[in-house]
Amino acid sequence: MKKKRVLAVEDELHILELIRYNLEQSGFHVEVAQNGEKAMRMLMENSYDMLLLDLMLPGIGGMEICRRVRSEAKTRKMPIIMLTAKGGEADKIGGLDMGADDYMTKPFSINELKARINSLLRRSEDMEMEEIINMGEISIDPVSHEVRIGNEIVEMTLKEYELLKILVLNQGKVLTRDMILDKVWGYEYFGDTRTVDVHIRHLRRKMGVENSKMIETVRGVGYRMRKVEE
Ligand code: CA
Repeated sequence: MKKKRVLAVEDELHILELIRYNLEQSGFHVEVAQNGEKAMRMLMENSYDMLLLDLMLPGIGGMEICRRVRSEAKTRKMPIIMLTAKGGEADKIGGLDMGADDYMTKPFSINELKARINSLLRRSEDMEMEEIINMGEISIDPVSHEVRIGNEIVEMTLKEYELLKILVLNQGKVLTRDMILDKVWGYEYFGDTRTVDVHIRHLRRKMGVENSKMIETVRGVGYRMRKVEE
């Protein structure tokens, strides 16, 4: 089996070495960069299956790298896990806003990091043949991961795509934030449910004013996709 390629970007050498050593032990191919400029160069020249991205970096910071990765066709769908310093609450949300799929607060458990990497990789590989899902103006292609609203293709990150899919497949039903975390992030989640809120906000923004109203907030519970009568 081909080794999965991980790029780890982190300026603190001991953390970088810890990540590299442990992931290589687990069978990953790991490349590293200690600053944003080098990371961007590597991302454009090579291809990776996963990006581990420190937020606070000298030069181009993690947030900006995240934004650039999401705006390039080549890297748009690459899973990203943000590594943030303890207590940087605003930073976590900011990272998710810029398109990261997940985040971990330092110091983190290497086993938890591995679990999250594997979970994201499994999901990004989930390319089994499935039929196109249609709901009103929305059409979701589970094979190409392409989402169309009306006639427009809407670019989405992996997590936005999965979130939309789960809402559409459960239209008319209320999904709690915990259920969504479980279905979309797929493991016992240590973070908090605001991860869901941030991704919902992102999704609504991409769906446009009218269609975004179909995702209803059920106060104190979660979210529901309004049922479309065909
Ligand atoms: Ca740092």
